[in-house]
Amino acid sequence: MTEYQAIFMADELKIYNTLSGEKEVFKPLVEGRIGMYVCGPTVYSDVHLGNCRTFVSFDVVYRYLLYKGYKVRYVRNITDVGHLEGDTDIGAEDKISKKARLEQLEPMEIAQKYTLGFHQMMDIFNTLPPSIEPRATGHIIEQIEMVKAIIDNGYGYEVDGSVYFDTIKFAKEKKVYGQLSGRKLDDLMAETRELKKQDEKRHPSDFAIWIKADPTHLMRWSSPWSVGFPGWHLECSAMSTRYLGKNFDIHGGGGDLKFPHHENEVAQNYGACDCAPANYWMHGNMLLMNGKKMSKSDGNTITPNQLFTGNSPHISKGYSPMSIRFFMLQSHYRSTLDLTDEALQAAEKGYRRLMEGYQNLLALTSDVKTGDQQLNQDLRASMDKVFENLDDDFNTPKALANLFEMVSVVNSIKNAQIDAKKLQSDTLEKMKAVFNDVIFDVFGLKDEKTEGADGDDLSSELMDLIIQLRQQAREEKNWAMADTIRDSLKKTGIVIKDGKEGTSWSLQ
Ligand code: AMP
Ligand code: ZN
Repeated sequence: MTEYQAIFMADELKIYNTLSGEKEVFKPLVEGRIGMYVCGPTVYSDVHLGNCRTFVSFDVVYRYLLYKGYKVRYVRNITDVGHLEGDTDIGAEDKISKKARLEQLEPMEIAQKYTLGFHQMMDIFNTLPPSIEPRATGHIIEQIEMVKAIIDNGYGYEVDGSVYFDTIKFAKEKKVYGQLSGRKLDDLMAETRELKKQDEKRHPSDFAIWIKADPTHLMRWSSPWSVGFPGWHLECSAMSTRYLGKNFDIHGGGGDLKFPHHENEVAQNYGACDCAPANYWMHGNMLLMNGKKMSKSDGNTITPNQLFTGNSPHISKGYSPMSIRFFMLQSHYRSTLDLTDEALQAAEKGYRRLMEGYQNLLALTSDVKTGDQQLNQDLRASMDKVFENLDDDFNTPKALANLFEMVSVVNSIKNAQIDAKKLQSDTLEKMKAVFNDVIFDVFGLKDEKTEGADGDDLSSELMDLIIQLRQQAREEKNWAMADTIRDSLKKTGIVIKDGKEGTSWSLQ
């Protein structure tokens, strides 16, 4: 822990709680410890950038909680069963089962393939792995036990091997149904859906917690009711209870999950143990592309790889993973974020400016004890504001703006527009620590130029060596060799650029 971390750790953290619709002072159930559950991906296809935005948002939340000194158990699940086409609860095909049928693979091959792809992408975006990453298929027993408890408590009923949650009975008795998503009981009563199997339900707003499998259905388990599989919402109730307890601190996910997924999760937990699962519900807002929600179903989507390579009609060129992470940090997690080519270009510039500012800061030295009062005060105020903004519901865009206030001063000192003697040594040391902590530990950025895009020092050293050899070839006018090196690197996805200050490289 750095000296400055200790000072900021003690400050109050406010979190916007979807349950109350207000920012609340965060109080963990157990002093110094936090249990946090975030809904993970459904692993039936490549993650798109919208998914990544949500996971990067919660990565910053996780990192900041760690930075504040909490011991955090971060659980993020893998959904590998139960999530049906159209996000309905019954009467449609399981997304993973369907993909397995179409590709003639085992469902677990599908889940494995896309889980690995997801992990790779999370790594590229430099997100920390969760403490536990449970799979829905690995927790069928817990889910069956939960269905039993819900039935025993009178909130579940069986019809022909499937089990449904009685929403109307629950809503009338517990008065919490609809609290999270803002749905009213009257709206639920009026709800109708013309889908297969809806007639088994006592009411259309009831939802399946156990589903009897059709004879052709690939994923199936024995249960007291039928050979079948769990409903989508059930896994998160069962796994959060298993690893974080019946009542825990934070539950997160994308805002599109508020209803029905999270509302039904709350109902299931109450139904099984008569208690609220999480005290704070956090929802990230959607990533848009050119003003419309990014979604696979209407083709308005871009994969991270397309963004890195520039291979998409939506963008004019490729962008590096850290420019994209910076782009995400530039908006608050509760605001929508619109992906456009212009916005990405601006983010790329902003990211470079921040990294260069940091390098300029590191290069400054000072042995001044008493400098310019106003200047040093302003810099200290900017540093305090960084943490005040992060404590204010993780306001990354405002905290970034505070860093840029300081970057301007640093650059001016470097360019001798501000006299270096005005900067005190203690202010400078503190700034170096704050920048390092916030940029790398909290924002999770990496300096792609100095570290190599994957943060691997060895590959960075190897790249330096290759660039040096190419430079030697150029000096010897061996253009063929210099071009071969450049073209071979390009084939492996590495682009080198010759500029005034020498040769640099980046991933395509
Ligand atoms: P899924 O794989 O569909 O279960 O979604 C995984 C996560 O990505 C969930 O938390 C969703 O809320 C989130 N998500 C899906 N689409 C978007 C989007 N366009 N922007 C932000 N998050 C999204
Ligand atoms: Zn979930």
